[in-house]
Amino acid sequence: MPPIGIFGGTFDPIHFGHLRLAEEMAEAAGLERVLFIPAGQPPHRRTPRTAAAHRLEMVRRAVAGNPRFEVDAREVNSPRPSYTVDTLTELRAELGNDQPLWLLLGADAFLDLTSWHAWRQLFELAHIAVAARPGAQLLKTETIPELLRNELSQRQVVGGPVAGPAGSVLLRQMTPLDISATAIRETLARHGSVRYLLPDAVLDYIHEHQLYARHEN
Ligand code: ATP
Repeated sequence: MPPIGIFGGTFDPIHFGHLRLAEEMAEAAGLERVLFIPAGQPPHRRTPRTAAAHRLEMVRRAVAGNPRFEVDAREVNSPRPSYTVDTLTELRAELGNDQPLWLLLGADAFLDLTSWHAWRQLFELAHIAVAARPGAQLLKTETIPELLRNELSQRQVVGGPVAGPAGSVLLRQMTPLDISATAIRETLARHGSVRYLLPDAVLDYIHEHQLYARHEN
């Protein structure tokens, strides 16, 4: 049963750092498809300023040309803030207990994992693929919190086919792309160019709807 990737984020806006992460992790873990799941009201950070409907549509446009990429609107459509553990529990129920699932994370998100709601349950629900992002000292063990390091010592795999539907952790370097949504928003607010940092279709949408203009930031 080919594994499925799950990639959550604020995507405010989605950019090439996100898309490359999904593409490279899909290759590394042999994913048949990747579900992009934009957050509704993320529990770990302030509510995004951009309306969920806009963030969702930008993700739709960004993934449109990639047959392996799909958008899943469940968190945006939920009236409650969604914890990753709840989203994974739902997907697990829908896709069955045998379906291998891979949660895709940037290294900064992974290093913060012990602060996530019911974080240990995540390992029962999915494998985790971590992409080392520029600036994150992912491979230096002393920067990994001890509780997480303990999990990693039991779960880390180096690649190749991974057994079972959940429970392994794969750490991978990805092509460094030092792009952040924060920097994109700041540049747009001062009417600077963000071309080649994100897909043209997303940039067109931003301009059509006058997102990230100074008065909104
Ligand atoms: P912001 O700048 O608003 O914090 P962000 O660009 O980090 O946003 P998120 O939507 O919060 O975007 O990120 C979703 C996931 O993508 C996280 O796991 C994050 O680590 C990862 N990620 C974001 N940007 C990059 C990048 N340039 N390279 C690799 N991973 C990235």
